Amino acid sequence: SPFLKTDFIGKNYIHLESISSTNDYAKEIASKAENGTIVVSEEQTSGRGRLGRKWVSEKGQGLWMSIILKPELTPQSSVKLTQVAAVSVVNAIIETIELNASIKWPNDIIINGKKICGILTEMNAELDRVNYVIVGIGLNVNMNKFPDDLKDKATSLFIETGKKIDRKKLTASIINNFEKYYYIFLKEGFEPIRISCLKHSVTIGSEVRVISGKNEFNGKAVDIDNDGNLIIEIGDGSRKAVMSGDVSVRGI
Ligand code: ADP
Repeated sequence: SPFLKTDFIGKNYIHLESISSTNDYAKEIASKAENGTIVVSEEQTSGRGRLGRKWVSEKGQGLWMSIILKPELTPQSSVKLTQVAAVSVVNAIIETIELNASIKWPNDIIINGKKICGILTEMNAELDRVNYVIVGIGLNVNMNKFPDDLKDKATSLFIETGKKIDRKKLTASIINNFEKYYYIFLKEGFEPIRISCLKHSVTIGSEVRVISGKNEFNGKAVDIDNDGNLIIEIGDGSRKAVMSGDVSVRGI
């Protein structure tokens, strides 16, 4: 793509017509694939969200993409690549479409209160070393409607702008931004990413219900800490740190 301006991410670019899930495909090839390999598919027949939840991935209407990374990072810091991706997608949307997108901690991008993009980071690690990390990005681009159960909570760039979006330009912008913020993360650590997440967050400042297995509580989201955890202030004024991964945070 003439729009790609990266050193290594997307140099190896695999484009598929149909696949179960780009993250699953990426996992299969990850041990042999070069760092920065990208897998894109026109459709996913069993796209996934977190905890095995279904991700609707219509043919030709979205950007269904996985990035294979082999960073010298611990598993604990690799989790923060979800936030690196979130900041990249928000900036790409602002740059190419001039739409104001925000981050719903930890892994969703929201426009006008509806989900436009989900991020699913998965990794293969031994002890304190990761073999590879797969950052999956599912972005609703040109679909004009969603199944009934998603109508009130999902949107696309087409629905928001009334214009069909050139997926090539947008994809390149996401990849360019991702490499930029990935380098920042490797060189300067999580702090600049954290600041960017806070700036674009819809979660911070709002009352939320945290659902973590059987454990549920309400509180006010007040901060993101240096590990990428969401900090919740509960009724008695004390604070709880919530780790991404297995929790759902709902606005109330
Ligand atoms: P959350 O943490 O918000 O529950 P996940 O990150 O696990 O969500 O993503 C899966 C959920 O996203 C599904 O349960 C469904 O509600 C919603 N969803 C599925 N496909 C799409 C889509 N294409 N666009 C927006 N939302 C979707």
